[in-house]
Amino acid sequence: MTTAAPTTAPIRTDNDLRVSIVGGGASGVLTAVNLLAGGDARLRVTIHETLPVIGAGIAYGTTDARHLLNVRARHMSAFPDTPSDLIDWYRATGRAIDPQAFLPRREYADYLRDRLADVADDRLRAFVGRVDDVVPTGGRYEVHSAGVEPTEADAVVLAYGNSAPSPLTVDGDALPEATWHVPNPWDLTWIERLPEDAVVALVGTGLTAIDTAITVLEGAPGRRVVMTSRHGLLPEAHVEQQSTAWVSRVPEGPLTADQLAAFFDDQVAAARRQDVDWRAVVDGLRAPTQSIWLRLDLDERRRFLSRYARHWEVRRHRMAPEIAARLDGYRRDGRLRLTTGGITALSARHGSCQVRFGADGQQVRVDAVVSCTGPQTDITRSRNPLLRNLRERSLVAPDALRLGLSCRPTGEVLDETGEVVPRVYAVGPPRKGTLYESTAIPEIRAQAAAVARALTAQESVPRA
Ligand SMILES: Cc1cc2nc3c(=O)[nH]c(=O)nc-3n(C[C@H](O)[C@H](O)[C@H](O)COP(=O)(O)OP(=O)(O)OC[C@H]3O[C@@H](n4cnc5c(N)ncnc54)[C@H](O)[C@@H]3O)c2cc1C
Repeated sequence: MTTAAPTTAPIRTDNDLRVSIVGGGASGVLTAVNLLAGGDARLRVTIHETLPVIGAGIAYGTTDARHLLNVRARHMSAFPDTPSDLIDWYRATGRAIDPQAFLPRREYADYLRDRLADVADDRLRAFVGRVDDVVPTGGRYEVHSAGVEPTEADAVVLAYGNSAPSPLTVDGDALPEATWHVPNPWDLTWIERLPEDAVVALVGTGLTAIDTAITVLEGAPGRRVVMTSRHGLLPEAHVEQQSTAWVSRVPEGPLTADQLAAFFDDQVAAARRQDVDWRAVVDGLRAPTQSIWLRLDLDERRRFLSRYARHWEVRRHRMAPEIAARLDGYRRDGRLRLTTGGITALSARHGSCQVRFGADGQQVRVDAVVSCTGPQTDITRSRNPLLRNLRERSLVAPDALRLGLSCRPTGEVLDETGEVVPRVYAVGPPRKGTLYESTAIPEIRAQAAAVARALTAQESVPRA
């Protein structure tokens, strides 16, 4: 693999198949790995990544070794057909591993990079720089990145991943830019500036809030954290050793959200009667989630999102047992407090601010207010210039629920009229509106493999 300026592009022939991948996180890298592993000599693959590192993205780019994968190592293989691949890689680096363990997330980036290196040759280039636009040019595309010549592509894979959370508002007003206001929870550099006795407010109570709490609290024993969200629900924890599987026979045909919720409750009750934990039911429903989602009509999907999604998500996206144990300890010691209702009032003081929390009305002076509300999925509100420009060119459109891009389940991107945009695919989080379950490795690895197959099955695009 080379990281170079576009002017050093390898010599092209008319038979080349040039694929530009926008985003070098897990989705982009796995798409590249699958493309190159097939050995197709026509391929010229370019990964464009804003960050100076490939393979990390947001999830695996964490700088804190205490942030763990939320999924056991045995389920995190990069390849659907080789479930032991991560375990094999780990052992090949000379280290012992329990397949049930939750590995440090940043090690997963090393794994992805190694798997890319295994297949990288002069068919692959990687550019550091943000792609700001993709311009159709007579059946092909020009990929524009600031400060460099545009690159030509026959096909484009949109693997831009998770966007930073929506800006925080209190009582309808956006929070001002200030040292105490942290809009991007995944950049941990702000924590280095925190006083040893800092009090930090985290808005959001999901897995990102938990990561942030761990880094803040473990950085200095005098720090305290208050986490708040509308519902105040924390993700559930995995149990130490879960080996039981529970296969639910999902009813055929169209479904409603209420039927689905009742079905889930029945399955959990049936499992409990056989001494099987509810987690086995959730995990058993993972594989059919996409097909279930496709059988809900738009109104039912909306109902699911407004009524049931939060309760499903905290069971589905669980934390490692050791993280749960640490949080319990912090809550017992009074260093971590969980409250409902969000922040209802805020007044800035020099370098800090006073906030009032919703449910208990408690007023607290805090050194930082951090947005942990989850990735912003509505591309009409995205701050990524690429998405704004692609929308203006009608190359992409939001899905009806504003969870990602309008696309087919197989990833072909649709324009605002619902037409397929030729040879433009989405992999990973942008498919969430279409598939609902589309943001974690088990789905991403399958999508990356399928998109690579679809692309290499295509004829080379004739040159003008
Ligand atoms: C904090 C966190 C923890 C997670 N933990 C797990 C886990 O343990 N297990 C699991 O299976 N899933 C986990 N996930 C789910 C996660 O979404 C996927 O596993 C995976 O990391 C998604 O990869 P991605 O490449 O699609 O997105 P991202 O990781 O967001 O990467 C996208 C990349 O695209 C780049 N990019 C964006 N726009 C442009 C542009 N215009 N030009 C160039 N580059 C661009 C970004 O810089 C970024 O590096 C986690 C998610 C988060 C947010």
